[in-house]
Amino acid sequence: MTLNRKCVVIHNGSHRTVAGFSNVELPQCIIPSSYVKRTDDAGKAKFIFGTYDMIDTTAEKRSDDEVYTLMDSQGLPYNWEALELQWRYMYETQLKVSPEELPLVITMPVTNGKPDMSILEHYYELAFDKLKVPVFQIVIEPLAIALSMGKSSAFVIDMGASGCNVTPIIDGIVVKNAVVRSKFGGDFLDFQVHEKLAPMIKEENDMENMADEGKNSTDVWHDANTWIQQFKSTMLQVSEKDLIELERYYKEQAEIFARQQEQLKQMDQQLQYTALMGSPNNPLLQKKNFLFKPLNKTITLDFKDCYEFAEYLFKPQLISDKFSPEDGLGPLMAKSVKKAGASINSMKANTSANPNGLGTSHMHATAGDNANGSSSNNISPEQVYSLLLTNIIITGSSSLIEGMEQRIIKELSIRFPQYKLTTFANQVMMDRKIQGWLGAVTMANLPSWNLGKWYSKEDYESLKRDGKQSQPANASANTN
Ligand code: ATP
Repeated sequence: MTLNRKCVVIHNGSHRTVAGFSNVELPQCIIPSSYVKRTDDAGKAKFIFGTYDMIDTTAEKRSDDEVYTLMDSQGLPYNWEALELQWRYMYETQLKVSPEELPLVITMPVTNGKPDMSILEHYYELAFDKLKVPVFQIVIEPLAIALSMGKSSAFVIDMGASGCNVTPIIDGIVVKNAVVRSKFGGDFLDFQVHEKLAPMIKEENDMENMADEGKNSTDVWHDANTWIQQFKSTMLQVSEKDLIELERYYKEQAEIFARQQEQLKQMDQQLQYTALMGSPNNPLLQKKNFLFKPLNKTITLDFKDCYEFAEYLFKPQLISDKFSPEDGLGPLMAKSVKKAGASINSMKANTSANPNGLGTSHMHATAGDNANGSSSNNISPEQVYSLLLTNIIITGSSSLIEGMEQRIIKELSIRFPQYKLTTFANQVMMDRKIQGWLGAVTMANLPSWNLGKWYSKEDYESLKRDGKQSQPANASANTN
């Protein structure tokens, strides 16, 4: 049965919100998951949403304007009143439909703690009581991404703004206690770029504005969404292997080259001129230019500096010894794979024993290329490693930094040398940026309503009456 269904699909990331319809391939809008609050002379607050409106407003540099976010560092909403305003803004100005007209599908990140029932309750209250949505579904973002790519087992690495989330999924089940999160993501890179470039710009131009003192939330947001964003997408690169190793390698090459030159010189005085003129080509010392538009100035950096920013995601201890090497993306990915191998069997037993209740959609996928028929049987840790490592999905806008995919493969291959690795990263830049939303669109378009977990206002009311929503055991099953 094919349903001719049209739903509104909203993905609230910690950095950007994507909204559109399930029957249209591209979203209607991509706006920041933040807003500017401006208070007028009469004390009335105005909330400004939307990328261009926010950029224009923050460019005015009014000292009493403030930027507020909607999502916390885990990617979960905490500012519910503002979230309601943002959804209303999108319905009215971007989607141009009434919330009462169409079903709504939203995404939620997976966390490795217990699902917070108050978050789910807030979402249902917002959808049913405030916006009067007819039916509503919450899908788990990495699961939706994996299923939309035809995979029921996958190792989803989502490199976003607030951090990097690593989620193992086996046979359509998120292995919750193996979900790991690195706090180093796009926002952290924004800070590092600012720290590195501010003195260079200030030194050259005495640009007071670049100094931290006197900077308020609107300046920080404006920088992050204008020149820092451009800097990250054009200048940042990831080295294929550990940057320190790479530097050592090029140093050795230079020494070998110098020795050869010396030998040549001794062999034939005639070659002396050529020998002295030649120099080894160290790619790390090549220069890269960035046009800093606010001042129309060119900033020149070594390739090594460009590599260094992204290196921090893998080796945070390079910035400060307060950060543990274990917080780097390589060790975290390995930890996640090993934990998934150790805990999948007990997870499966628990999940199959749990009834459904109020919660997010969960699906025991039948689609996919790698269901190994072992959902009811035990599966060895080695099989889990193999399933995950042959289905690595790399997503999130921070993964667009050049060389990221190769480095992730390198990091995993040195930790799991005996396993074959296969990665899947959408090569269409736009699709990678909206992968979470595309995943939710796929879930909204499943051929039968029964395959998703839809809630109507009546279900919500009766579940509330039955008190089911307060049973943590049910919630745990439903977020898997
Ligand atoms: P989260 O996954 O934390 O909820 P999100 O889904 O809202 O975040 P993404 O769009 O996945 O956000 O990632 C946003 C981050 O990616 C921002 O820090 C942004 O500056 C950065 N970013 C966007 N495009 C690029 C690019 N081409 N190169 C590097 N970084 C980029």
